[in-house]
Amino acid sequence: MSFTDLQSIDHAVHACTNCALSEQRTKAVPGEGASNAGIMFIGEGPGYHEDRQGRPFVGPAGQLLDKLLASIGLKRADVYITNMVKCRPPSNRDPFPGEIQACSGYLDAQVKLIAPRVIVTLGRHSFGRFFPSESISKARGKARTWKGQTIFPIYHPAAAGRTAQSGADARARRGLPEAEDDAGEQCCPCSAAGAGRAAAFATLDVLAVMRRVSPCPGCV
Ligand code: SF4
Repeated sequence: MSFTDLQSIDHAVHACTNCALSEQRTKAVPGEGASNAGIMFIGEGPGYHEDRQGRPFVGPAGQLLDKLLASIGLKRADVYITNMVKCRPPSNRDPFPGEIQACSGYLDAQVKLIAPRVIVTLGRHSFGRFFPSESISKARGKARTWKGQTIFPIYHPAAAGRTAQSGADARARRGLPEAEDDAGEQCCPCSAAGAGRAAAFATLDVLAVMRRVSPCPGCV
């Protein structure tokens, strides 16, 4: 696929029938953000809310991503956010390899046009696109190089949110205040207090990305 601007990619995605995911979508979700973004976030695929609105990361995981960005002084308009597949897999199942392959030309074109300094992969599928034989749990939080491009893998915000919620539930069952369980994870004034273990990891991971792109005055 050859595109000269992001708008032509958006139009092609909205009209695309290259895989079966087109049959059940409400709206395709090409991606959104700055065309010259220094950081590009790549998730796995649209969920229920994204499918309804045609925008990436607008459900609970997106709200957590917004908080993570805010914790480092960024808005979503400052970055570019997209997914491996641009149409929602039924029941939010994992995208099939054939669907990822069918959609890969759009993502390749977005990366080429935006030319971000850092690609942040959200979750194991988008990490696996670049490093298919490696584990996200071991790779997360460390910058890598892939064909000259800096890749920074972090957990998917949805997983962080679920872990944060289960952590909050466990704290409630044990009668612990939020800060008691999370105290060990707070090592930076920018950290999201009380966000839970995985969410705190994700926050710190994003902070590490930002230090790489532009130092945070509150942390250096
Ligand atoms: S997921 Fe990608 S390849 Fe499949 S129909 Fe949607 S835009 Fe086309």
